[in-house]
Amino acid sequence: MLAKQKYRKSGTSPTFLVQNNISFVPRGGTSEIMSEKNLIFVNMKIRLIGKNLDELKKLVAEEGLPGFTAKQIAQWLYVKKVRSIDDMTNLSKAARARLSEKYEVGVTPYAGLQISSDGTKKYLFPVSCPHKRGLNVRVSEDELETSAIEAVMIPDADRATLCVSSQAGCRMGCRFCMTGRQGFHGHMSAADIISQFIAVDESDKLTNAVFMGMGEPLDNYDNVMRAIEILTADWGFAWSPKRITLSTIGVLPNLKRYLDECKCHLAVSLHNPLPHERLSVMPVQGAWPIEEVIALIKQYDFTGQRRVSFEYTMFAGFNDTKAHADALIRMLKGLECRMNLIRFHKIPDFPYETSPDVIIENFRNRLNNSGLTTTIRASRGEDILAACGMLAGQHRE
Ligand code: SF4
Repeated sequence: MLAKQKYRKSGTSPTFLVQNNISFVPRGGTSEIMSEKNLIFVNMKIRLIGKNLDELKKLVAEEGLPGFTAKQIAQWLYVKKVRSIDDMTNLSKAARARLSEKYEVGVTPYAGLQISSDGTKKYLFPVSCPHKRGLNVRVSEDELETSAIEAVMIPDADRATLCVSSQAGCRMGCRFCMTGRQGFHGHMSAADIISQFIAVDESDKLTNAVFMGMGEPLDNYDNVMRAIEILTADWGFAWSPKRITLSTIGVLPNLKRYLDECKCHLAVSLHNPLPHERLSVMPVQGAWPIEEVIALIKQYDFTGQRRVSFEYTMFAGFNDTKAHADALIRMLKGLECRMNLIRFHKIPDFPYETSPDVIIENFRNRLNNSGLTTTIRASRGEDILAACGMLAGQHRE
């Protein structure tokens, strides 16, 4: 079923959801513009969010506006986080009117929200059939359903971390992942990625970000890098790269680019050190073996500000033996890194359950005793299925 049955609606729109340029109309809706049932119109306005300073400079030049306007717009978008061009009050009325003819801010309000008993919040966002965005096309409601993505805000004593999505669905096909089960519905634009940071209620309180939501970020490299540029640039959010972690299963060519071009932290989904076993649950192993991923990572310095960590979901009887622990120790020898052990939340049609706590603790102790810093990650938002890597999917069943 569509997420709307389980999510709380946001806003006061008379339709199920109205965002800046897209409306979801309930079946039988009577909107004049959307007279055809179950069809959604995508308009032609261009979103300003997701653009970097160079693009904004080009844009203002094309519109005949003074060059300094670009920096003013960036401030309104990424510092003051306005939702409308009309709110950019240090731009002249004429400039605002001119911009509004062609452009919109383009923040997508959330369509639904679930709040866990531990304070974790899961937001649902529509992304507008990413591969069709900007075209004057109509798309079916079903198509938009499959393009919904989620972001999770995880509060802690001294931080608020946003776990963001980078693709609608995913084409990596990891067997233990609900997102992978959905298939791939499109890359998210930089605008859709940045929009998550602005649209959540905690936007001004966020301290950290992890690209660990739906999708493989290194499979959508350019848009993710653009979003990180906006988050870290002084004309943008001005976050330190230390506040951002990108998680990957090891898309090797783009991992090299990421390590060369970006100072943010890296997390690698490892899950099994034995190649044939890893391949049985992670098809990526066939294309880019974890041994080659680790060999590449070992060429970079992680003794300074930038950190690398490994994610290891514990599957009973599959990857939780002493032999697996010893293989991990051998594999990561000489690398300054951390290991996060994660309890598995069972999903349908996958043969393994989570390892018992005592096995997880023994596994952790064995790694720690070898000098590999290892922690068991606390589960957050379990009651709303908010664990990273577990996003979406369930609400559509
Ligand atoms: S675990 Fe990550 S890479 Fe694998 S299918 Fe799920 S979202 Fe994609």
